[in-house]
Amino acid sequence: MKLRFWGARGSIPTPLTPAKLKSKISSIVQRISPADLESQESRERFLARLPDYLFSTVGGNTACVEVCTDEHCRLIFDAGTGIRELGKAIMEQKRACAMHLFMSHFHWDHLQGLPFFAPAFDPRNHLAFYSPQPNFRSILEGQMRAPYFPITMDEMAAKKEFVVLSGEGVQIGGVRVRPRAMSHPGGCYSYAIEEKGKKAIYSTDTELDPKDFDRTPENEEYFGDADALIIDAQYTLGEAIEKQYWGHSSFSLAADFASSWRIKRLILFHHEPSYSDQKIDSILKSADWYLSHMEEKGIQVVLAREGLSIDV
Ligand SMILES: [Zn+2]
Ligand SMILES: [Zn+2]
Repeated sequence: MKLRFWGARGSIPTPLTPAKLKSKISSIVQRISPADLESQESRERFLARLPDYLFSTVGGNTACVEVCTDEHCRLIFDAGTGIRELGKAIMEQKRACAMHLFMSHFHWDHLQGLPFFAPAFDPRNHLAFYSPQPNFRSILEGQMRAPYFPITMDEMAAKKEFVVLSGEGVQIGGVRVRPRAMSHPGGCYSYAIEEKGKKAIYSTDTELDPKDFDRTPENEEYFGDADALIIDAQYTLGEAIEKQYWGHSSFSLAADFASSWRIKRLILFHHEPSYSDQKIDSILKSADWYLSHMEEKGIQVVLAREGLSIDV
């Protein structure tokens, strides 16, 4: 399966501000030496050497992750503002498609892109929604009604289906998707996605709890040996202590968790909206340092960022 990130920011959309853009450009200009400008090749080498936090951004769209299965089935996790860009990409393909949209929970940053998801308005398409929350259809419809939005979900012309999940989850072709309740104010579900012996876990909006580390057979089966874990790592350790019960985790706890369950690839997700790209990059470096300090050599740690694709 292939994971693709369309929105990785937590809590609220966070556009790059003019001041932050100017600051990036200014920092880049100050790094240039005359030799860097000599030829097209030297200019390209200079750009290639720049750190991502200067020459790029993790992006400001809120949670949306696409999983394309080996059978070309399209699963989508959350409908934050990133889903709008995903919708544009799907529409550019100009053909009917089937989509399976899994909702982790219903905080604004996870559903506010849905009214702008263009494929939902195309009658050729099929859009299935999934959540373990029994009344979730009315929750989704509730954000698309006056005075919040000018058109209702009834006007989404795709063939819609609402599936309330049990703990067993759902089998879609060769893929199994299973929910698990995580600690978060008002509740949130993670999803384990399994296909052909590979496993990815999407666990946004998660305040890791001692029970998540318990060596129970259920935890072992759900978390153990995952090939990829997309996890809420919104805070530094200090901020996580200050913001206990706000429902998010620190990068260091995420690293402990990944080590505890022998996760192969740790993907830090749901970035704090008040953090700059540089600060988020420092969180990645700290997580990397922390894992190497634990002598964890088997875990690769990466930052979720818009446009990132990962093969699992
Ligand atoms: Zn969130
Ligand atoms: Zn939340």
